[in-house]
Amino acid sequence: ESTPAAGWNFDNSYARLPETMFTRLDPTPVRAPEIVIFNEPLAAALGLDAESLQAEGAADVFGGNRVPEGAEPLAQAYAGHQFGHFTMLGDGRAILLGEQITPEGKRMDIQLKGSGRTPYSRGGDGRAALGPMLREYIISEAMHGLGIPTTRSLAVVTTGEEIFRETELPGAILTRVAASHLRVGTFQYAANWGRAGELQALADYTIQRHYPEAEQEENRYLALLKAVIRRQASLIAKWQLVGFIHGVMNTDNMALSGETIDYGPCAFMDAYHLNTVFSSIDVQGRYAYGNQPQIAAWNLARFAETLLPLLQEDEKQAIATAEETLGDFAELYHRHWLEGMRSKLGIVNEEEEDEELVKSLLHLMQRHGADYTNTFRALTLGRPEETGLHGSADFAQWLELWRGRLDRQEASEEESKQRMRSSNPAIIPRNHRVEEALEAAVESGDYSVLKRLVAALANPYAYVPEQDEYCTLPPQSGRPYRTFCGT
Ligand code: AMP
Ligand code: MG
Ligand code: MG
Repeated sequence: ESTPAAGWNFDNSYARLPETMFTRLDPTPVRAPEIVIFNEPLAAALGLDAESLQAEGAADVFGGNRVPEGAEPLAQAYAGHQFGHFTMLGDGRAILLGEQITPEGKRMDIQLKGSGRTPYSRGGDGRAALGPMLREYIISEAMHGLGIPTTRSLAVVTTGEEIFRETELPGAILTRVAASHLRVGTFQYAANWGRAGELQALADYTIQRHYPEAEQEENRYLALLKAVIRRQASLIAKWQLVGFIHGVMNTDNMALSGETIDYGPCAFMDAYHLNTVFSSIDVQGRYAYGNQPQIAAWNLARFAETLLPLLQEDEKQAIATAEETLGDFAELYHRHWLEGMRSKLGIVNEEEEDEELVKSLLHLMQRHGADYTNTFRALTLGRPEETGLHGSADFAQWLELWRGRLDRQEASEEESKQRMRSSNPAIIPRNHRVEEALEAAVESGDYSVLKRLVAALANPYAYVPEQDEYCTLPPQSGRPYRTFCGT
């Protein structure tokens, strides 16, 4: 039995929602759970004591063999549009243990991913492979380091069991920590399969958990829609600004909290191009880098549709209200994006032509296949000769315009430099470095490469020479990098 020493402090508000929203179920035990990576700072923030956890058999808890005291495990029901097609989904390989109330009073979902079959598994085995779980650990923690709202990774446990994915792979379980796992797809499920009053119960729950300020509004459901739109606009702008490509922006993978969720085929862009796609199954490029803002807007429209019966009694009026509200997304997004781009160029005030200045740089990068992160890094370091655009007359002209722009603002050079440093990461989880870390871990059981990478990515804006090794570009292989989901 777990003792209070470990710091578990569960409350299970999701389990008090209408029963159609979930299925109570324990994780399926595994043969030989072993912790391979554990996030101590995150554990501490959650109020967990690593030593006591260890003494109580942490691997059994994070492997799903023992349910910690106070948890009420369940699998959540949800639906979603996958590449545009609507289906019933749900936690097919995840179990929500419960909500940990942190010492600061925050409510955080503790979820095991890869924890066995559930009623929502369809044809799947309910399990996950070690490589993809470690990949989620690296990239989600990197996103956190970059200051981008995201689910977190507390631990990865190997299960001692093999799973089958074309070939045999070592099984693993990731402990995911999230503000919640409420998704656009959760509302789609309630709207399509919920009984009378259940959609409203879910909406009230979401407001209470994430947007309590909406309770004061005359139309709280409209306030909820507006708040979710605002947070998505801010989130997607942050993705675009660092070159993050989610890869599978289905409506079930969009969290209403505004956190990035579901690290499957995601990856960071190297050379700047709007059409960049890494996911092997995204053959049409639906979720390409340049499409992400539009897709977010599309997903938000699906969310708004579920809210129609709550927005206004008259359906026509509700639709008109929803459409008008959704119309705000593009402008909100654009404002965040432009603000972020100004910062990336060290611009402190606003001028009409700033957008043109930004776009002409991006255009040059796309034309020359310049590396996105390293171009901004080189400008930040005052070394334009390292941008990969060097030598082009167009770039020389652009540099002149940019320098003129910086000279015109009142902010000091130091302030401007500082702004660039805090907006342009010196390092990102480069695909080839992530692969290298995964290979050492999965093939050789050597976790040192991965741990060093994770440690560096915790401070991506540090600009210290020790991190320079993570700035090198992938070797030219002629073969585009590909990512996979569902493994
Ligand atoms: P994703 O592509 O990660 O968003 O997952 C889509 C759906 O497939 C979700 O309902 C998952 O729970 C489910 N799923 C993914 N992998 C498995 C698996 N190995 N076993 C059962 N369900 C799975
Ligand atoms: Mg998903
Ligand atoms: Mg996934």
